Amino acid sequence: MDITNPEIQLYSEQYTSKESELLKQINRDTHAHVLMPRMLSGHLQGRLLSMLSCMAKPKQILEIGTYTGYSAICLAEGLTPDGKLITIDINDELEERVRKYFEASGKTNQIDYLIGDAAKIIPALPGLFDLVFIDADKENYPTYYDLIFNRVPLQGIIIADNVLWSGKVLQEKPDKDTLAIIEFNKKVASDNRVEQVLLPVRDGLMVIRKIRE
Ligand code: SAH
Ligand code: CA
Repeated sequence: MDITNPEIQLYSEQYTSKESELLKQINRDTHAHVLMPRMLSGHLQGRLLSMLSCMAKPKQILEIGTYTGYSAICLAEGLTPDGKLITIDINDELEERVRKYFEASGKTNQIDYLIGDAAKIIPALPGLFDLVFIDADKENYPTYYDLIFNRVPLQGIIIADNVLWSGKVLQEKPDKDTLAIIEFNKKVASDNRVEQVLLPVRDGLMVIRKIRE
């Protein structure tokens, strides 16, 4: 189910800054050649991620769930000149394609692309994350939140995608993934260390700001 009215979606895209040629190409190629292209952030959400990143000016970004690299390239737009984005994905089949896109973005020296299970990789990563984008397996959203929380400085931003899960969060008998999303949303809403806004953009984006340790 699309949460947003398709005409409103189109109108919003028309009045939003355009995607770069590279992002447009990733969007097209992913739809033509990769399984589950709906997972790609896309024009409107991509510009929102870029906007939030440019406002936060992060020194280090952590992205959990690279897929074809679309959101990583959007988020990297806001990095400080010496900043780094670390992005993790468990699927090694997309590696060659994604490395090619990162190369084309001219930001390979600022992007660390790691292949493996995020829950295993994150604890071994150095430093703090001024911005975290949680967008991998839904079942582990609560785990990812706990894993990264102490690594985010005060005023740091955590963004979680798909928190409306095609509207399934409203179902009376939710499946396993939906239950994990519901648990995640409740966990964030009852956490007095953060402020958050659940934006009904695309599939739902939870934007969280850490205000207490
Ligand atoms: N952020 C991308 C879309 C990510 S789709 C965008 O907006 O364009 C979700 C990705 O999470 C998939 O590519 C999947 O392979 C990855 N994933 C699933 N389980 C994972 C895990 N345990 N660790 C790391 N990545 C995982
Ligand atoms: Ca997503």
